[in-house]
Amino acid sequence: MDAEPESNLLPICPRCAYSLRGLPVEHRCPECGLAFDRRWRVFGGQLLPGPRDAGARLPIIGLAYAVFWSLVAAVLVWFAAPRGWTSWLLLTVVAAVTALMAWLVFTKPRKFVAVGPEGVVIYHGPTRTQRFPWTQLGRAEFNIARGGVIFLAAGKPLRLDRSTFFRSNYSEMDRCVQTLNSYPRPRETAASRNTPQQTPSAST
Ligand SMILES: [Zn+2]
Repeated sequence: MDAEPESNLLPICPRCAYSLRGLPVEHRCPECGLAFDRRWRVFGGQLLPGPRDAGARLPIIGLAYAVFWSLVAAVLVWFAAPRGWTSWLLLTVVAAVTALMAWLVFTKPRKFVAVGPEGVVIYHGPTRTQRFPWTQLGRAEFNIARGGVIFLAAGKPLRLDRSTFFRSNYSEMDRCVQTLNSYPRPRETAASRNTPQQTPSAST
């Protein structure tokens, strides 16, 4: 096997951000135990671009979300219920629930997809990781209507959600599709094609 230069290899664990520098190409993360291949191209997870910027903005987004829906609730309460302490209590509950939902949405653990020589690894969360060899994978496409990157995996359509895998970063989605399609698929067998095989005409 050719020795890859260190700069071409995965620098951190996509699951826990532990530094992988100096570790073998195929190994397990010393921190979280994830079996990795440092030739992976990873999309999402701890390698998502601009995590600091996003992190700084998230509480503001959450707060704006809570304020907006509290105002909507205030208008509804104003017209639907008699003005009194019960209305304000209801409003407080709505605001609290909204803020909690915003917090849950914006602090969800990050999913990732890793594309490597052996195939594709899809990390959905601590309890679910899928691994597919190239023999089971179809061509990928970015599907706007379905909101994500779609490809056939083991005969079933698999969708990598726009927001949970890519935080709606369209250039990342595009790079992911290109990377998925840049690996050669094992050649189709004649039986798997829909077009009928041209039978050689009988000779002699
Ligand atoms: Zn790790």
